[in-house]
Amino acid sequence: MALTGLDIYKLLPKTNCKDCGFATCLAFAMALAQKKVSLDKCPHVISAAKIALESASQPPVKLVTIGTGDSRLEMGNETVMYRHEQKFYHPAGIGILVEDKLTDSEIEEKLKKINALNFERVGQRISVNLVCIKNSSGDTARFANAADKIAGLTGLNLALSSHSAKAIEEVIHNSRAPLRVPYCERRPLLISEGNELDGFIKLAKENKLPLAVTCADPDEAAAVTDKVKSGGVEEIVINIENKSIAGTIQDFALIRRTALKKNFRPLGYPLMAFTGAPTPHAEMAEAISYVLKYASLVIIKNIEKEFVLPLLVTRQDIYSDPQKPVQVEPKVYEIGKVNKHSPVLITTNFSITYFTVAGEVEASKVPSYIVCCDSEGMSVLTAWAAEKFTAEKIDETVKKFGVDKMVAHKRLVIPGYVSVMSGKLEEISGWKIAVGPREASGIPNYLRNLK
Ligand code: SF4
Repeated sequence: MALTGLDIYKLLPKTNCKDCGFATCLAFAMALAQKKVSLDKCPHVISAAKIALESASQPPVKLVTIGTGDSRLEMGNETVMYRHEQKFYHPAGIGILVEDKLTDSEIEEKLKKINALNFERVGQRISVNLVCIKNSSGDTARFANAADKIAGLTGLNLALSSHSAKAIEEVIHNSRAPLRVPYCERRPLLISEGNELDGFIKLAKENKLPLAVTCADPDEAAAVTDKVKSGGVEEIVINIENKSIAGTIQDFALIRRTALKKNFRPLGYPLMAFTGAPTPHAEMAEAISYVLKYASLVIIKNIEKEFVLPLLVTRQDIYSDPQKPVQVEPKVYEIGKVNKHSPVLITTNFSITYFTVAGEVEASKVPSYIVCCDSEGMSVLTAWAAEKFTAEKIDETVKKFGVDKMVAHKRLVIPGYVSVMSGKLEEISGWKIAVGPREASGIPNYLRNLK
């Protein structure tokens, strides 16, 4: 837990010398607690206090980065147990397991499918983040060949999972085919599955790579991360060995709570899990449970779109800011090849509302305008109840965007749920108001029959 201003004050010299630019040590401590100033502004802090203060100012869960560039996966740095307290910052990575037992053609086919796991939802791209190559064969040459092949087939981040540090070393140092980007430069996550921890520590340290350690429970994890850190590796991920789903979630919650509330550094690292459920439905339920509580990386086996998409959608929702609804820009959107006779539909700028309406208009095959009013990202009924989607607001929006110059008619279609405002809107806007369906699913039929 972060130190309070008073905790910090106790560690300062308390001379009120003003060298830091603050009138008193207490004022400086308060500013430091709010992260408005850095500790080095006080030149008089004794080294023991400095160590304590610097360590307390570190985030409770360390930031670990896999990969490089825009598609890199950042994990950790979370500050709360529950999303409503603030928000979760770094969306959990979703990785796909590829075993080195597969044949070359099976790997090619699988990678083609994995690369296609990229979707658009409510105006945002959502996709899987990583391919985890597992040395299930136990054969070093086979593992290295599979790893080389996969690296050439995907731009996704990579993880290398093995019992053997030697097998990992073979991949990252002795690639057999010339790779576009050498393995180390892609910053793969090394996953130590077993007992060769010293070898893994050496490899991660020498190559400045993140290292995931496999542990049975939080006690073992604390001891192992201490050892890895003392070995010179800073970026550590805790992989809790697959037991029951409930057991893993219990361990994850305990680790997260201990790191955040007790500021217990040995457990202050991102968490990861491999799914173990035997059927596709059970596996997705398991993966979703880990995303909710508190995995920063989940490695799954299933690559079918109908299973992966719900997982990505869950992650997208959980990692949105609960205090800021996802919004689209308030403006007039054209769906299809609109003309002067196209219908004009009115709705709010809540992202899900807009994309649902837009999807149904597209399905109707009736080119239409959608006017999105600025409702501060609220859905139709919520915005209406909060007076953010009123007759006055709609009139103002229609005028602002010059809708009368876009069409040769004077008819607006409003959502069925706010039919109550049709009289007033007609009066103040001079447009004829038609009441559309309550649910977006009724839009195609409505538009096709609109005279
Ligand atoms: Fe206190 Fe240090 Fe600021 Fe002086 S420089 S007032 S000792 S915090």
